[in-house]
Amino acid sequence: MLTYLAILVFVFGTAVGSFLNVVILRHEKKPISGRSGCPKCGKTLEWFELIPVLSFLIQKAKCRGCGRPISWQYPLVEIMTGFVFVAIFFFLTDFYRVGSIFDIAFLSFGFSFLTLASIWGLLVAIFVYDLYHKIIPDDFVFPFIFLSLVWLFHSASSGEFFSSPSVSDMFMGPLFFLFFASLWYFSRGTWMGFGDAKLALGMGFLLGFSNGLSAFMLSFWIGAGVAVILFLYGTVIKKLDNIKVPLFLKNLGLKSEIPFAPFLVIGTALAFFFGVEFIDLINVFGF
Ligand SMILES: [Zn+2]
Repeated sequence: MLTYLAILVFVFGTAVGSFLNVVILRHEKKPISGRSGCPKCGKTLEWFELIPVLSFLIQKAKCRGCGRPISWQYPLVEIMTGFVFVAIFFFLTDFYRVGSIFDIAFLSFGFSFLTLASIWGLLVAIFVYDLYHKIIPDDFVFPFIFLSLVWLFHSASSGEFFSSPSVSDMFMGPLFFLFFASLWYFSRGTWMGFGDAKLALGMGFLLGFSNGLSAFMLSFWIGAGVAVILFLYGTVIKKLDNIKVPLFLKNLGLKSEIPFAPFLVIGTALAFFFGVEFIDLINVFGF
């Protein structure tokens, strides 16, 4: 039964992902008419062109109006949101120790699900937006901070509605914020943006102490790994200029500035959904 429910949750997630695509586009101020339309020719989409993922596949990644390619960003965001929603669902069945659908205490479970779904929807939007524009919009990050605070107090109550979290969990957000804000301040915004500091505030509230530290370490490790790969890739491509490489890969490789929010979101996801413990992380590397 839970598996069937999870499939429904996935489908719901892809629909929300499709909505997130619109939110991201609106924020980029690309022209969209009242209903969703092709960003290139403005053709209003029919209902059958609005089905998440499937429409993209059926139309073979092309607009039916102008034949120009549709960005892979759309189905990827939809699929990503679908998986994230399924992860939230299983996180919560675990959190509430739900064995079957009849065990679900709908009020508390529903409230948790809505809170986490909104939090993770915002994180997906931040991930994509920062990747392309290297800016974290306040419209995305402020609601994220607020909802993470709500989750901090709700999760501490385990089933009741709200109660006080432990002091160490409380202070993870402000601690992260101070750390990233000082990186931003002393590097004059070259290492870290102020947006990253705001994101880290919400991240600390969402994860608490132990998971917060894990997410923090994972983000830096993955970020450093990717930076090295991109750097090597960039220098190699520079030398092999006559080889045909898609332009966006070239730009990615040669960019000196790498957006950090995507790594923070990935670190947060690993720590939150898989509960990677800080102590285990240290043990793995034998420190
Ligand atoms: Zn078109």
